[in-house]
Amino acid sequence: MDTQPKPDRAAWLYGPSVKCSVPAPELTAPWRLVLLGAPGVGKGTQAQLLAQRFGACHLSTGDVFRAAKSRRVSEQTSAMAVALEAMRRGALVSDWIVSDMIRERIDCIACTGGFILDGFPRTMSQAKLLKQLTEQKNLALDAAINYELPHDEIIARLSGRRTCASCKAIFHILSKPPRVAGVCDECGARLNQRDDDRAESIKVRLQEHDAKTEPLISFYKEQGLLLTICSIGSPDEIHARTVHALNARRESALAPVAL
Ligand code: AMP
Repeated sequence: MDTQPKPDRAAWLYGPSVKCSVPAPELTAPWRLVLLGAPGVGKGTQAQLLAQRFGACHLSTGDVFRAAKSRRVSEQTSAMAVALEAMRRGALVSDWIVSDMIRERIDCIACTGGFILDGFPRTMSQAKLLKQLTEQKNLALDAAINYELPHDEIIARLSGRRTCASCKAIFHILSKPPRVAGVCDECGARLNQRDDDRAESIKVRLQEHDAKTEPLISFYKEQGLLLTICSIGSPDEIHARTVHALNARRESALAPVAL
């Protein structure tokens, strides 16, 4: 696989007062992608693989909240405390909190290495904000990729997911068990179940997705940006399917029009 150096995500995770230590690559044709799909379809894994392949930054709003969660309560703003409470229940964080967070990180959206947005936008108002910000910066989205998977498969994936408390490696108790139960193969740290991967929260997250995020499929379809990818199979298979569809899309956009 042709991979690029891994961009540092410090400015995204901690806000504009923190600078990324790895400079963004100056790419001539950076990829700017939005990943859609219900929680559990594997957007995070696909975002990491795409970011690695294309040299773009993996911009996950969920990761920004999780980074804030690991700070001391006294260091959290009141807006962040409200956001983390919604997140714990599996509910979406209010649009105004998310919008402020994104506006603050506009330089990440305009990064010369491109971006893979994972978990944003999640509502129509967020999608309109992204459109407004990219137009302001004269940037165009390449595609909105919608990963599809049946609900019963999603529930099985989420309820068995375990994440390393330290290096964030992801395991599954059935499909990708660690060598020693509860211990990360990569770094030996403890594996945790995310609060929002518990049964009560999964139900709320799927309801939130169907009510608020699914309408974005038509929004991007109308703009000719939607690419639908089946999320059944191994991460590498899904990645190969995605790259194939993206390349075909770019090639057809570049192909001369027959007169
Ligand atoms: P994720 O890691 O993308 O599944 O996000 C985890 C949780 O963070 C979600 O269930 C929401 O509570 C919150 N969250 C992340 N991104 C957004 C967003 N764009 N809008 C609202 N809530 C969000």
